[in-house]
Amino acid sequence: MSKLAVSGLKAYYFTERGPLKAVDGVNLELADRESIGIVGESGSGKSSLGTALMHSMQAPGKVVEGSILLDGVDLNNMTPSEFSRKIRWKKMAMVFQGAMNALDPVYTVESQLLEILKEHGYSGDTEEKIKNALDSVGLDASVAKKYPHELSGGMKQRIVIAMAILMEPDLLIADEPTTALDVIMQKKIIELLKSLRDERKMNIVLITHDLALVSLIADKIGIMYAGQLVEVGAAGDIYKTPKHPYTKDLIKAIPRLHSTDKKIHFIPGRPPSLINITDGCRFYDRCSYAMDICKKTVPEFPTASGYVRCWLYDPNIQKEKGE
Ligand code: SF4
Repeated sequence: MSKLAVSGLKAYYFTERGPLKAVDGVNLELADRESIGIVGESGSGKSSLGTALMHSMQAPGKVVEGSILLDGVDLNNMTPSEFSRKIRWKKMAMVFQGAMNALDPVYTVESQLLEILKEHGYSGDTEEKIKNALDSVGLDASVAKKYPHELSGGMKQRIVIAMAILMEPDLLIADEPTTALDVIMQKKIIELLKSLRDERKMNIVLITHDLALVSLIADKIGIMYAGQLVEVGAAGDIYKTPKHPYTKDLIKAIPRLHSTDKKIHFIPGRPPSLINITDGCRFYDRCSYAMDICKKTVPEFPTASGYVRCWLYDPNIQKEKGE
């Protein structure tokens, strides 16, 4: 059984101009202890996917269809209070984007960690629990007595990760956990997530726009474009033999220090509006391989380690082309 199995997930924001389809038919599977990087441009729906998984969408956003199975239990069938009681922090936790700037300035780190333990009725040695969580994220126990303004950006990000792992969840969703940190600290935070994954045997879902960063931690990669996962596969396959034209363009756009190609590659055009979007391929206007059939709904075609949502991989079209 998969650790996480997401099927046909749709999460929309209901605006005056119509539904904004931020997550539109996402399918995803994670084996036990497997990590995935969800990569896409700003506005591609990757953060909405994280909040939908975490039962944390705010009005006017809402999950409208699909299932999210965690260890075989459908989270979408749970009431908010049941989810809070049984799942949040204990089985699944999320480091929200910008969370390090949302630490309460008037409470010490210890008070904020104690609040989580209290909320979940933790009855063990709270001091020891907090010390262990801080130790796991590479911080000294003395940090517990500090206020957020006394900490650097990197330390604050470690604190929000410590909060997320305090109740020892099996699955951690980290949404852009390295934003606003310098390059050295970015690498340290990713290494921290990697060591937590290995030591605590956790599944990690890393949401990021940085395809290069994901290579440091992910077993799998999901490429998100305009509310859909257009390609999912083993990290090695995505880097070495990308299939979807968008994935190929993204990889080409990664700057390479030692490459003789000094040209900066970018993807022309812009993603479509997700309000009242049509059924056809969402990359159509930016794709140099676009065909008439691409205006129809694009199914998922299997690949060696996942799937791709692109008509180029329809076996009939490949046969016609003699591939
Ligand atoms: Fe391009 Fe068509 Fe594939 Fe879309 S389905 S990425 S338009 S070839």
